Amino acid sequence: MNWVNRAVDAVCTYYGRYPVPHVSLSVLVRGRPGVHGGVTYPAHNGARTRIAVGPGTTPDQLNDDWMLTHELIHPAFPYMSDEHHWIEEGISVYVEPIARVQARQLSPTKMWHDVVRDMPQGEPEAGDEGLDHTHNWGRTYWGGALFCLVADVRIREQTHNRKGLQDALRGIVDAGGRINEDWSIERALTAGDKATGTTVLMDLYREMRDKPVTVDLDAIWRKLGIQRRPGGDVELVTQAPEANIREAITKPEKVEPPRAELQPSVPR
Ligand SMILES: [Zn+2]
Repeated sequence: MNWVNRAVDAVCTYYGRYPVPHVSLSVLVRGRPGVHGGVTYPAHNGARTRIAVGPGTTPDQLNDDWMLTHELIHPAFPYMSDEHHWIEEGISVYVEPIARVQARQLSPTKMWHDVVRDMPQGEPEAGDEGLDHTHNWGRTYWGGALFCLVADVRIREQTHNRKGLQDALRGIVDAGGRINEDWSIERALTAGDKATGTTVLMDLYREMRDKPVTVDLDAIWRKLGIQRRPGGDVELVTQAPEANIREAITKPEKVEPPRAELQPSVPR
């Protein structure tokens, strides 16, 4: 229950509330120790999530788990057709660690360390035809996350750091864009842009949908003040030109997140 509550808290912290009225969560006890096999579908009043926890899973494994948070973010975006699956996964991949930092479950240094390590998996490889037409694992999960990172930084640059991707994603939920609504990607991104007063999401979508756009990640880490050390550690540099943007991305709002009401039904 503590593991479920932590994941719900992280999602509520990022979105300001839980995005759908009801989630049916099935936890299957099977497989190796640890959390695995999470999957989320639309349902009548919200969503249905299924996830497995192996017998012998330790409390540390549950406290370090990212997968349930990832799954419980999925209800906060409308259902897309297959070619836009990358935006659904990209949002969950990008938002999950940020939500956990905002909920004080993960340190910003550890988060950026992992993001810097993993984000290059989203860059296009030879033969890539853009995010809408390249459906391999790297482009679906990390290509989508790369889109979110670039969008977040651009929105903050254009709004003097007053708005970010978080505002766009909350705006999409506020406009009714949840997993049990079947929307076009244009409708979702336009709702997000409206919430930030920019056109960043639609512009970036037009840039990346049918072309292999390589993002200069080193330039982004440099301006955000994320410095890699030879041993693999990262150091967050406060004097970097956009250190304020890096800090704003993981800064929790002052409002206390509403606590989810959990009604467990355990089969006997
Ligand atoms: Zn997912």
